[in-house]
Amino acid sequence: MYIDPDTLSPTRKLDAARTLFVVSPHLDDAVFGCAALLAARPGARVCTVFAGTPPNRQDTEWDRAAGFADSTLAMRGRYREDDRALDVCSAKPVRLGFLDGQYGPLPETPTLADALYDALLAQKRSKHADDTTLVVPLGVHHPDHVRVGEAWTTLLRAGRVASCIVYEDAIHRAARGVVEKRLAELDKAGLRLTALDATWCPERLSARALDIKRRGIVAYDSQLRAFGERVPADLAKPERFWRVERI
Ligand SMILES: [Zn+2]
Repeated sequence: MYIDPDTLSPTRKLDAARTLFVVSPHLDDAVFGCAALLAARPGARVCTVFAGTPPNRQDTEWDRAAGFADSTLAMRGRYREDDRALDVCSAKPVRLGFLDGQYGPLPETPTLADALYDALLAQKRSKHADDTTLVVPLGVHHPDHVRVGEAWTTLLRAGRVASCIVYEDAIHRAARGVVEKRLAELDKAGLRLTALDATWCPERLSARALDIKRRGIVAYDSQLRAFGERVPADLAKPERFWRVERI
């Protein structure tokens, strides 16, 4: 079953009392993809997956384009940017130690799924209640994003997580056909997809939320430099969300 995201209305609103636990592949994706939602629900935890620093300094093309001489300086600089951006969004960081794909092999899907599950459980325990909403990236185009997508899909299919909210990966969503392909894949995996419209969380469309998003995005100046000119166009496009549930 494939549900056209442009035609469906949601049946449930986002509960204002719940804390969001937002998974971000890299140090910028949650803000790029759903900062207006973060702004609408202050106090969210943003769990960045590929936040590890390689033990030996590496020199990559991407880090050089971002203005860093090596991987240690890059991760240090990116933590600072992320701290600033999350502060603007009134969110708090949680960081896992997996290495970005540019620095080494990606973790296997089950390993990553276990780590995400543990981080989510730790968050639920710290709140002393089951009042956390899991928010994840769709997981398209970039191999690191795709692996994160595989990990949360595994958790849902195994019944370890009953449902989550999915946000569209800003920038990577612009690659032709990738979003449609991924939605079809989730449908084939036996998960129920519901596109969410404005009534699901109207606060995220307020002038205040959109202003916070603009300020959050510019905090990642090194990454914006590395992406170059083609980035701003997609970052200005609306955030899109789906609810995904195990049937
Ligand atoms: Zn990313």
